[in-house]
Amino acid sequence: MPLSSSLDRVLARISARYRDDPYQLLQMLRAVQASYSHVPPAAIDFFARHLRLPHSQVQGVVEFYAFLHEVPRGRYDIRFSDNITDQMLGSRGLMNRLCERLGVKPGVPRRDGSVTVDLTSCTGMSDQGPAAMVNGLAVTRLDATRIDEMADLVDAGIALEAWPRDWFAVRDNIRRTGPMLDLHMTPGAALKAAIARGAASTLSELSRSGLRGRGGAGYLTAHKWRFCMEAPGVQRFVVCNADEGEPGTFKDRVLLNRFSGELFEGMALAGFVVGARQGFLYLRGEYEYLLPHLEAVLERCREEGLLGSNLFGSGFDFDISIHLGAGAYICGEESALIESLEGKRGQARVRPPFPAVRGYADKPTVVNNVQTFIQAAQVAAMGSAWFSSLGTEKSRGTVLLSISGDVPKRGIYEYPFGVSIGEVLGDCGATAVQAIQIGGPSGHLIGASEFHRKIAFEDLPTTGSLMVFDWTRDVVAVVQNFARFFQHESCGFCTPCRVGTTVMRQLIDKVVEGKATTADLNEMESAGQVTRALSHCGLGQTAPNPMLDALAHFRAAFEARIHDGGGDPGFDLDAELSEARSMFGADVAKEGHHGG
Ligand code: SF4
Repeated sequence: MPLSSSLDRVLARISARYRDDPYQLLQMLRAVQASYSHVPPAAIDFFARHLRLPHSQVQGVVEFYAFLHEVPRGRYDIRFSDNITDQMLGSRGLMNRLCERLGVKPGVPRRDGSVTVDLTSCTGMSDQGPAAMVNGLAVTRLDATRIDEMADLVDAGIALEAWPRDWFAVRDNIRRTGPMLDLHMTPGAALKAAIARGAASTLSELSRSGLRGRGGAGYLTAHKWRFCMEAPGVQRFVVCNADEGEPGTFKDRVLLNRFSGELFEGMALAGFVVGARQGFLYLRGEYEYLLPHLEAVLERCREEGLLGSNLFGSGFDFDISIHLGAGAYICGEESALIESLEGKRGQARVRPPFPAVRGYADKPTVVNNVQTFIQAAQVAAMGSAWFSSLGTEKSRGTVLLSISGDVPKRGIYEYPFGVSIGEVLGDCGATAVQAIQIGGPSGHLIGASEFHRKIAFEDLPTTGSLMVFDWTRDVVAVVQNFARFFQHESCGFCTPCRVGTTVMRQLIDKVVEGKATTADLNEMESAGQVTRALSHCGLGQTAPNPMLDALAHFRAAFEARIHDGGGDPGFDLDAELSEARSMFGADVAKEGHHGG
């Protein structure tokens, strides 16, 4: 193919770096975005031609991901985390201050092309916010002084490498350890034990441990691995879901930093059990700063014989590569993550078939969360009894909580499953607590009357996020933040979610503006129920949770802001959703959102 321009030559080099593999399209587009601060139309044309993909597919990928743009961003691309906990720490005011200093409007590049200032969803730094990302790298603990200095650095055109290093420091903030965080395994211990036991016995050991996926639905890990092992076909894959996008969750960030060796060993263990030779770590784009560390650990594992060919003389080969996401919460859903891993828009697949039967490249694929793989490795090395002696009947082992919000000691806490909310709040020093959001926005909002409840799959399950709101906080504003989040993150594929998340956001905005009526509150409930029942994937099915919980437990906060004098609901939900009902019927199967 003749190379028509210097741009084409650069694009050809990028494509070659990824072996001209269409599944690597997202990685290629990320590289283009990093070099040119956008993906120009010529690049879309090039990849469509060069990779023999439909032009609409390449265009669709660029449009889908929040970190890819068709028009140039600034050379400094600054995005403030807009999670509710960052807002509580003053992020919006700091962003406005920076915009004023730099003379820009949010989302609009400065005339000289030097800088863009914008918002983004949670960056996974709720324990050390307000946080932002500059050219994809996390900056923590922002304050007015840092913002002013940042404006000076941008104006002076100082390269990012010369910015103060402590701005980019990310702390682990581990506050309470337990058996999992305290365990320091000898590298290779899990794999050696598994090879000595054999795949079938290792699976039995895992089954006896009762380990359930720590990413969402909580399927028994051994069952998932068995489905994959028994699925027809020769080639299989192992995928680690490190797309920790649930606002308020940051446990995987800490595990990726501290326990990456154990994680890779857990993935190799899964490969040994199910018969896979290749693993992928799908890392959320917001954690790009961890990439050099993770690549270095992978290299060390290869040098030490923990990855590669003929591991420990068993004849088993296994290796892992890392793929970066590009800012799409829906990619935490395991089938959407697989689509993204294949270089496509991250859209949830129709299930069944589940990924364990037909996943990456339509081959049987184990998808588990970071913590799940680490704990599987720990079980293989320490035995099932070590693990199953902790926790409750249906929730064995320990839970990691990422605690943020109105607490003096934000950070990571490990507890045996079954711990009460009250005990956790006591440990992190929370006082005068009005409400907590457990499991992120897709989880549940509960008030003080329920703080006796236990964290466990059989009572209050969680993906690890626990946000605390004291009595100074406005619960309605919290729900508004979550409603905006879901509307923004809805992939738009199905009408119930696309319309439902929009309706819910419009209604909550109306409440906040003091324009809502009692009829609007009823409409909110109705919109929530319909969205929950008819949405195609876990995002739409869980998006109404905070609003419905708030209406159930904090209705007075809503009623205090409504007036029944002149407000007009002004929206016919049934009419809006009639198309969706006819498309999907009312009995759409429920699915968990995030892979376990
Ligand atoms: S429920 Fe929402 S996120 Fe899921 S497929 Fe439908 S539109 Fe996309």
